[in-house]
Amino acid sequence: MRTPFVVGNWKLNKTIAESLALVTELKNQLGAVKGVAVGVAPVFTSLHSVAKRLEGSAIATCGQNCHFETTGAWTGEVSAPLLADAGATWVIVGHSERRQFFGDTSEIVGKKARAVLAAGLGAIVCVGELLAERDAGRTLAVVDDQLAGGLAGIDAAAAASKIVIAYEPVWAIGTGRTATPAQAQEVHAHIRKWLADRFTPTTADAIRIQYGGSVKPSNAEALMSEKDIDGALVGGASLEAADFIAIVKAARPS
Ligand code: PEP
Repeated sequence: MRTPFVVGNWKLNKTIAESLALVTELKNQLGAVKGVAVGVAPVFTSLHSVAKRLEGSAIATCGQNCHFETTGAWTGEVSAPLLADAGATWVIVGHSERRQFFGDTSEIVGKKARAVLAAGLGAIVCVGELLAERDAGRTLAVVDDQLAGGLAGIDAAAAASKIVIAYEPVWAIGTGRTATPAQAQEVHAHIRKWLADRFTPTTADAIRIQYGGSVKPSNAEALMSEKDIDGALVGGASLEAADFIAIVKAARPS
């Protein structure tokens, strides 16, 4: 049994006051929801305030990214131990926007994932193909490469509860175009098999695989009802409390 995990990735949105208003509503309204883990990933400037506001609740505070080094001359960066110090318990690594616009290769994503785990945090490792790669029939090969890089040097058997894979087809992120449940399930099942081959079937069964890409209240239940879809990484729809709450409730085991 895997507890679904729904995380809101707020990207570059919301002031501290706006972040606190949203998270207070989530805390109040999701307190009684059982059977699903929930997280929010605010901008770094709001992260500590959000984590403080969430004290006493089960909602996790997540970083959207981190550097792979812990300290030193890395102007503009933030490290996993500093995110932990600010109250984060999870960090997203390898988001497609990082890969596309900030040069995060799969090798770098692996270094970041190792840094996150070394800091005692959980790592949400994002993978997903571009539209051209899907059209060229390369989806599974691209995902395999990203998994190999992103999980390099990681003992997933020891850390299964702290590793989440987020499958996010790039053509579905922020486009309003969602993978069908069947399209998503096909890749999720492939990822689960990749994890079983690379680690063990038991480890593969324990690792949660989120879907991300234009998840909204109207499609969340169908996606998350698929056998290998264990929650969602939500961008746009996580910025509105009502939408995000509806998505979280759709993930509850029936
Ligand atoms: C994301 O950024 O991880 C994402 C899935 O965004 P959206 O839900 O807006 O497509």
